[in-house]
Amino acid sequence: MADLDQLRDGLHISVSQIRTYLRCPRSFELRYVLGAQPAFKPVPFAFGTSFHAALARFYLAVKEEGAPPPLQLVNDAFRDAWQRELESDLPLQADDDEPADTGALVDKGTEMLAVFHDHAVKNLDGVKVEAVEQPFSVSLTDPDTGVEMEEKLVGALDLVMKKGRKRQIVEHKSSARKFSDDQIKYDIQPTAYRLAGKAMGMGDVKVTYQIVTKAKSSMLQIVDLDRNEEDELEFQRVAVGVMRAVDAGAFMPVRGWQCRGCPHQHVCRPPRPKLAAAG
Ligand code: SF4
Repeated sequence: MADLDQLRDGLHISVSQIRTYLRCPRSFELRYVLGAQPAFKPVPFAFGTSFHAALARFYLAVKEEGAPPPLQLVNDAFRDAWQRELESDLPLQADDDEPADTGALVDKGTEMLAVFHDHAVKNLDGVKVEAVEQPFSVSLTDPDTGVEMEEKLVGALDLVMKKGRKRQIVEHKSSARKFSDDQIKYDIQPTAYRLAGKAMGMGDVKVTYQIVTKAKSSMLQIVDLDRNEEDELEFQRVAVGVMRAVDAGAFMPVRGWQCRGCPHQHVCRPPRPKLAAAG
């Protein structure tokens, strides 16, 4: 299968794009339509990317060598990825509830990886890792008209594994705190992944979040996400609605908490249009 960058060459939409539009359409426009240069990269994004790289390294080793790698290898993957983030052209900017100190962040990442590694090693019995960072591109249909959309839903599944006859899609998360009941109930990502898994022939696949918290004392939260066909229809209705709004050029700003950490705040307000001089 093509890699994610190749899939993004065609007309597409991703869960992250849908979330961005729902949070603030102007932010979507600046990021995906105008390609405006952000002023910084939020630390949680950079941290999450590095944490994902470390967990992907763990499961790739399990897939290729049939045994869990030592914690040191996972820590090294995290540090390498974090270093790449530090060396990128964009400066990192911490959120209010994040430590800004790089050393403290690396220590926190290392502590979180120890919590993850301890759990993962104990839970590999009978598990076959089938895919790590599996890209997907699946069709979307307007549930109200039955018309298949030109754009594909694209993304990548962090982990696909099989235990006995049951297949499971696992999404890794690093989070400031435990996921709330509302996040678990309404997040669109597991619905999108279930839809993708079914389209890829995985049948009635289970989607699980493996969340490691950055709280003072890190902990692991494992959540099975219950989604059904009604949720899938609703997700497609949302995705199609966003695509139609984008096509129509509906990019209104939505001001609120999201503006505080917005990397496009410096270009959010376009210059005031010049008014024609009165008669
Ligand atoms: S500053 Fe606020 S309104 Fe403007 S793009 Fe960012 S999130 Fe949207």
